[in-house]
Amino acid sequence: MTSVKNTDILTDIVIVGAGPAGLSAACALEGSGLKITLIEPQSKDSLADPKIDGREIALSHFSKSFLEEYGIWQKFDPKNIHLLKEAKIATGEEPFALGFERSDDSELPLGFLVSNHVIRKGLYKKASELENVTILTDHKVCSVHSKNDAAVVTLDSKEIIECKLLIVADSRFSVTRRMLGIGAKMKDFGRVMLVCRMEHETPHYSVAMEHFKYGKTCAILPLQKGVSSFVLTVPAAKSYEVTQLDEKGFNIFAEDIMNGSLGKMKLISERFSYPLIGVYSDKFTAQRAALIGDAAVGMHPVTAHGYNLGVKSAVTLSNLIKSAVKNGQDIGSFWLLQKYQLSHRVEAKPIYEGTNAVVNLFTNDNPAAKLLRRAALNISNHFTPFKKHVVSKLTQIK
Ligand SMILES: Cc1cc2nc3c(=O)[nH]c(=O)nc-3n(C[C@H](O)[C@H](O)[C@H](O)COP(=O)(O)OP(=O)(O)OC[C@H]3O[C@@H](n4cnc5c(N)ncnc54)[C@H](O)[C@@H]3O)c2cc1C
Repeated sequence: MTSVKNTDILTDIVIVGAGPAGLSAACALEGSGLKITLIEPQSKDSLADPKIDGREIALSHFSKSFLEEYGIWQKFDPKNIHLLKEAKIATGEEPFALGFERSDDSELPLGFLVSNHVIRKGLYKKASELENVTILTDHKVCSVHSKNDAAVVTLDSKEIIECKLLIVADSRFSVTRRMLGIGAKMKDFGRVMLVCRMEHETPHYSVAMEHFKYGKTCAILPLQKGVSSFVLTVPAAKSYEVTQLDEKGFNIFAEDIMNGSLGKMKLISERFSYPLIGVYSDKFTAQRAALIGDAAVGMHPVTAHGYNLGVKSAVTLSNLIKSAVKNGQDIGSFWLLQKYQLSHRVEAKPIYEGTNAVVNLFTNDNPAAKLLRRAALNISNHFTPFKKHVVSKLTQIK
């Protein structure tokens, strides 16, 4: 690679963002022989031992095999892995409107639930042990520009890094995406997702339940015996009322919204809230740059595909990179990036649009939408293609 004047670091690949997607890409490039530099504003300590953030990630079988391939899954404490056998959706009008279950007679579960901080910790440990990977913590990217043969990144420390390929993984609100001149369609659902852990009397039988109920949505994700993650979605303007409830008030609120189906419920963790904004980037590539993870597609969490899609993007891109290295080709070529973009758009678009359509249909409470919802549910198998798509995305390994 030709060096530019004032370059402080020369590397093959820069990954912006050491979140789940960026770290997954670094792990997936193990054995490529490429020098990789990750840039992350958080400190080394917060990456090595991430704080609990309330997110319980439903992992697909593909993500599980990815984590197994790099020896990360095997290091999870089995107590932190929870089976997801089935998922059911109920509405204000229909007790079980939609069910997601395996239809292939397999004994295997639909997916696995593992806390986000456990996944991040495992990924960081693996990436930080790789000889070809350098993680620059406490650093932000200030500017990027690309030319025919290299991308050039300037850090807040004024250091300049030159690389053959820039991988952008700095979240759905990616600043680097904007620096590259890539726009994105954002869908603000006007809602907030509140997550916490709750103990409950009635067993969950490893079944996730989602209740869409007149403006509010709540879901139960089954964890250990008698404990579930309680996921509540409320209009942003109402979120304050719920977050301000004291513990006793919150327990009663949860029992009520679950129609008592879990018996007595008790809050056993902090409550965390997240704004619900879906993001779909106009392009997944620019000259010598590729977007992965939420920087490419930021999903509504209801169908549990955000990190799973992030793993797919990291694996698709790294396979193309590894094959280019093997064939002595340029790892940042236009053609490689086009192949990545095409493949990941085909993967992501249906699930992104399908998820948004389901959320809109189930959360809109005007009379016309209620009629449409009932009609949609009554038309036999109206949702079958989407259902099958969601289930197959969770269960397929390749
Ligand atoms: C409540 C909730 C539940 C979810 N449940 C599921 C689920 O069941 N299944 C599933 O698959 N997904 C789920 N998701 C989605 C999943 O958490 C995300 O898709 C995933 O975290 C995205 O990873 P990422 O690395 O792309 O982005 P992020 O996790 O946002 O990480 C981005 C990283 O980039 C860093 N960064 C930011 N700015 C800069 C900068 N300027 N320079 C360098 N670095 C920067 C950040 O510090 C961070 O480390 C859920 C999300 C939420 C909110």
